[in-house]
Amino acid sequence: MMTSKLERDNASRRKRMSDPSYRIKVNSTERKRLEDPIKRARKQETNNNYYQNLKINNPDQYEKRLAKTRLNGLKQRRQERINTIKHYGGRCFCCNESEIMFLGMDHINGGGNKHRKEIKGKNIYRWLRMNDYPDGFRVACHNCNMAIGFYGKCPHKREDTKKPQVS
Ligand SMILES: [Zn+2]
Ligand SMILES: [Zn+2]
Repeated sequence: MMTSKLERDNASRRKRMSDPSYRIKVNSTERKRLEDPIKRARKQETNNNYYQNLKINNPDQYEKRLAKTRLNGLKQRRQERINTIKHYGGRCFCCNESEIMFLGMDHINGGGNKHRKEIKGKNIYRWLRMNDYPDGFRVACHNCNMAIGFYGKCPHKREDTKKPQVS
Protein backbone atom coordinates (compact mmCIF):
# COMPACT_ATOMS: atom_id res chain seq x y z
CA MET A 1 0.00 0.00 0.00
CA MET A 2 1.21 3.48 -0.87
CA THR A 3 1.79 5.82 2.00
CA SER A 4 1.11 9.49 1.43
CA LYS A 5 3.87 12.06 1.61
CA LEU A 6 2.28 13.52 4.73
CA GLU A 7 2.36 10.15 6.47
CA ARG A 8 5.99 9.62 5.50
CA ASP A 9 6.90 13.11 6.71
CA ASN A 10 5.13 12.52 10.00
CA ALA A 11 6.84 9.17 10.45
CA SER A 12 10.30 10.58 9.83
CA ARG A 13 9.57 13.54 12.10
CA ARG A 14 8.45 11.16 14.86
CA LYS A 15 11.62 9.13 14.39
CA ARG A 16 13.82 12.23 14.64
CA MET A 17 11.93 13.54 17.67
CA SER A 18 12.33 10.22 19.47
CA ASP A 19 16.04 11.04 19.80
CA PRO A 20 16.31 13.04 23.07
CA SER A 21 19.42 14.98 22.02
CA TYR A 22 17.69 16.08 18.82
CA ARG A 23 14.64 17.14 20.81
CA ILE A 24 16.75 19.23 23.19
CA LYS A 25 18.41 20.92 20.23
CA VAL A 26 15.09 21.72 18.55
CA ASN A 27 13.54 22.97 21.78
CA SER A 28 16.45 25.25 22.63
CA THR A 29 16.54 26.70 19.10
CA GLU A 30 12.81 27.30 19.29
CA ARG A 31 13.08 28.88 22.74
CA LYS A 32 15.77 31.24 21.50
CA ARG A 33 13.69 32.16 18.46
CA LEU A 34 10.72 32.96 20.68
CA GLU A 35 12.74 35.44 22.72
CA ASP A 36 11.92 37.85 19.88
CA PRO A 37 8.53 39.33 20.88
CA ILE A 38 7.44 39.76 17.24
CA LYS A 39 8.14 36.13 16.38
CA ARG A 40 6.49 35.12 19.62
CA ALA A 41 3.31 37.06 18.81
CA ARG A 42 3.27 35.66 15.28
CA LYS A 43 3.57 32.11 16.55
CA GLN A 44 0.84 32.77 19.12
CA GLU A 45 -1.44 34.01 16.36
CA THR A 46 -0.73 31.02 14.12
CA ASN A 47 -1.46 28.70 17.04
CA ASN A 48 -4.68 30.53 17.92
CA ASN A 49 -5.89 30.37 14.32
CA TYR A 50 -5.07 26.69 14.11
CA TYR A 51 -7.00 25.91 17.28
CA GLN A 52 -9.95 28.13 16.34
CA ASN A 53 -10.23 26.26 13.04
CA LEU A 54 -9.81 22.90 14.71
CA LYS A 55 -12.53 23.77 17.20
CA ILE A 56 -14.98 24.40 14.35
CA ASN A 57 -13.88 21.70 11.91
CA ASN A 58 -12.97 18.87 14.24
CA PRO A 59 -14.33 19.41 17.78
CA ASP A 60 -13.37 15.88 18.92
CA GLN A 61 -9.76 16.36 17.92
CA TYR A 62 -9.84 19.83 19.50
CA GLU A 63 -11.04 18.44 22.83
CA LYS A 64 -8.34 15.77 22.70
CA ARG A 65 -5.63 18.33 22.05
CA LEU A 66 -6.95 20.58 24.78
CA ALA A 67 -6.94 17.73 27.31
CA LYS A 68 -3.39 16.84 26.30
CA THR A 69 -2.21 20.44 26.64
CA ARG A 70 -3.76 20.70 30.09
CA LEU A 71 -2.18 17.42 31.17
CA ASN A 72 1.22 18.54 29.88
CA GLY A 73 0.87 21.79 31.80
CA LEU A 74 0.08 19.89 34.97
CA LYS A 75 3.03 17.54 34.45
CA GLN A 76 5.30 20.49 33.78
CA ARG A 77 4.17 22.33 36.93
CA ARG A 78 4.66 19.17 39.01
CA GLN A 79 8.14 18.64 37.60
CA GLU A 80 8.98 22.29 38.24
CA ARG A 81 7.85 21.86 41.86
CA ILE A 82 9.98 18.73 42.32
CA ASN A 83 13.06 20.39 40.78
CA THR A 84 12.79 23.48 42.97
CA ILE A 85 12.16 21.57 46.18
CA LYS A 86 15.11 19.30 45.38
CA HIS A 87 17.27 22.33 44.69
CA TYR A 88 16.52 23.63 48.19
CA GLY A 89 17.47 20.32 49.78
CA GLY A 90 14.34 18.22 49.34
CA ARG A 91 13.60 17.93 53.07
CA CYS A 92 11.60 19.89 55.61
CA PHE A 93 14.09 22.11 57.47
CA CYS A 94 12.25 21.35 60.71
CA CYS A 95 11.20 17.69 60.78
CA ASN A 96 13.21 16.29 57.85
CA GLU A 97 10.10 15.08 56.04
CA SER A 98 11.12 14.10 52.49
CA GLU A 99 7.82 12.99 50.95
CA ILE A 100 7.50 15.45 48.09
CA MET A 101 3.70 15.58 48.36
CA PHE A 102 3.99 16.96 51.90
CA LEU A 103 6.55 19.60 51.02
CA GLY A 104 6.40 23.22 49.89
CA MET A 105 8.49 26.35 49.98
CA ASP A 106 8.67 28.59 53.02
CA HIS A 107 9.87 32.19 53.31
CA ILE A 108 12.58 32.14 55.96
CA ASN A 109 11.87 35.60 57.38
CA GLY A 110 8.12 35.59 56.89
CA GLY A 111 6.46 37.90 54.39
CA GLY A 112 5.00 34.99 52.44
CA ASN A 113 1.67 36.71 51.83
CA LYS A 114 3.34 39.90 50.67
CA HIS A 115 5.65 37.99 48.36
CA ARG A 116 2.78 35.99 46.89
CA LYS A 117 1.05 39.28 46.08
CA GLU A 118 4.23 40.65 44.52
CA ILE A 119 4.57 37.73 42.13
CA LYS A 120 0.83 38.03 41.46
CA GLY A 121 -0.19 34.44 41.91
CA LYS A 122 2.59 33.20 39.61
CA ASN A 123 3.90 29.76 40.32
CA ILE A 124 6.45 30.17 43.14
CA TYR A 125 8.50 27.15 42.05
CA ARG A 126 8.89 28.60 38.59
CA TRP A 127 9.53 32.07 39.99
CA LEU A 128 12.36 30.71 42.15
CA ARG A 129 13.99 29.00 39.18
CA MET A 130 13.66 32.09 36.97
CA ASN A 131 15.32 34.12 39.75
CA ASP A 132 18.26 31.71 40.09
CA TYR A 133 17.00 30.16 43.33
CA PRO A 134 17.53 33.16 45.65
CA ASP A 135 18.35 32.91 49.35
CA GLY A 136 15.65 33.49 51.94
CA PHE A 137 13.63 30.40 51.07
CA ARG A 138 13.65 26.90 52.48
CA VAL A 139 11.71 23.67 52.18
CA ALA A 140 9.05 23.07 54.81
CA CYS A 141 6.43 20.37 55.12
CA HIS A 142 2.85 21.61 55.24
CA ASN A 143 2.53 20.73 58.94
CA CYS A 144 5.56 22.69 60.07
CA ASN A 145 4.77 25.53 57.67
CA MET A 146 1.22 25.90 58.99
CA ALA A 147 2.28 25.64 62.63
CA ILE A 148 4.87 28.39 62.14
CA GLY A 149 2.35 30.51 60.23
CA PHE A 150 -0.34 30.22 62.87
CA TYR A 151 1.65 29.99 66.11
CA GLY A 152 5.02 31.46 65.19
CA LYS A 153 6.69 28.23 66.20
CA CYS A 154 6.48 24.57 65.25
CA PRO A 155 5.62 22.12 68.07
CA HIS A 156 8.71 20.22 66.97
CA LYS A 157 10.21 23.12 68.96
CA ARG A 158 13.14 23.96 66.77
CA GLU A 159 14.36 27.49 66.98
CA ASP A 160 12.46 29.78 64.67
CA THR A 161 12.64 33.53 64.40
CA LYS A 162 9.52 34.05 62.37
CA LYS A 163 6.70 36.24 63.69
CA PRO A 164 3.21 34.74 63.62
CA GLN A 165 1.08 35.93 60.70
CA VAL A 166 -2.15 35.38 62.64
CA SER A 167 -2.51 36.60 66.22
ZN1 LIG B 1 8.15 19.44 58.81
ZN1 LIG C 1 8.21 21.13 62.63
